[in-house]
Amino acid sequence: MQGGKTPPTVEVFNFAVADDNSYFADGIAVHNCDRYASHDEGLGRGVYPVRDVPSYPQHPHERCTLAPAPVADPREVVAALRSQFGLDEPTTTVAAAFVPATDIAEAEAFARSLGVPDVIYGEPRRRLDAVAKNALLNAANVTNEALSELAARGIPLPPNVRILRDPYNMNAMAHYQPSKDTMTVNTLHRFWRRPEVATEELRAASWLVAEKPADVIVHEVGHYLHLTGQPTSAIDAARTVLTPAEAEVGIGVSRYAATNQSELVAEVFVQRFRGRPVSDDAMTLYRRFGGPDL
Ligand SMILES: [Zn+2]
Repeated sequence: MQGGKTPPTVEVFNFAVADDNSYFADGIAVHNCDRYASHDEGLGRGVYPVRDVPSYPQHPHERCTLAPAPVADPREVVAALRSQFGLDEPTTTVAAAFVPATDIAEAEAFARSLGVPDVIYGEPRRRLDAVAKNALLNAANVTNEALSELAARGIPLPPNVRILRDPYNMNAMAHYQPSKDTMTVNTLHRFWRRPEVATEELRAASWLVAEKPADVIVHEVGHYLHLTGQPTSAIDAARTVLTPAEAEVGIGVSRYAATNQSELVAEVFVQRFRGRPVSDDAMTLYRRFGGPDL
């Protein structure tokens, strides 16, 4: 029998298919996929109000699917859902207290948790002997201790931190490279074998102001803050050797501070960060050389 208003194109026994591919048995619609899909009452094609969703499945080989369809602007729906699930509420990240890591993966994870975007500690493919392993872990933990102390004071950290063998800077236990915005800690330097002992020696020789190994890293972050955003010419100027009168003031800080403007700033930065006294003359030079505010 024919069903619906549209003339059937096929009729077998009591089964009919209309032009719009609606199927009828004894005049009752049994296969309404196309009708359901083309239904439009102003909400969009194939979209029904919740209370009027057609029964489903309509017939044994139903291939349709039912899915929730937002009728509002998708951006509004997303905003409402984000608000409902609290996705945009500010998360207060409290920097975890520093605890020395027992392996490199743990140390790297800690540095990342402080918000340093790019952290590479060690060279995974390189086989390290016990001495090298010890130096790497010492360097990682000392670096993390300093970074966590700096982060706790809200001081920006260098975006790239590398702890690796740096044969091109053999005389530096760490250095900051403005062109790469990277602080590199050199595990080849003997300092990292016994950082506490080495710090004591450097301090005893008045070479550095460092009172603990982490101060070596604070010194580098001082360079980072000093040199960040400065044009190359200013960076070169910062390396300018001190005049005899300036060097006289610098030596009152440390012998290293007397070498050039950049080192004076980094050494005074450590003293200021640690809340140790700095002479007025040294502060005057620190400000004149563009030392970072603290
Ligand atoms: Zn330096």
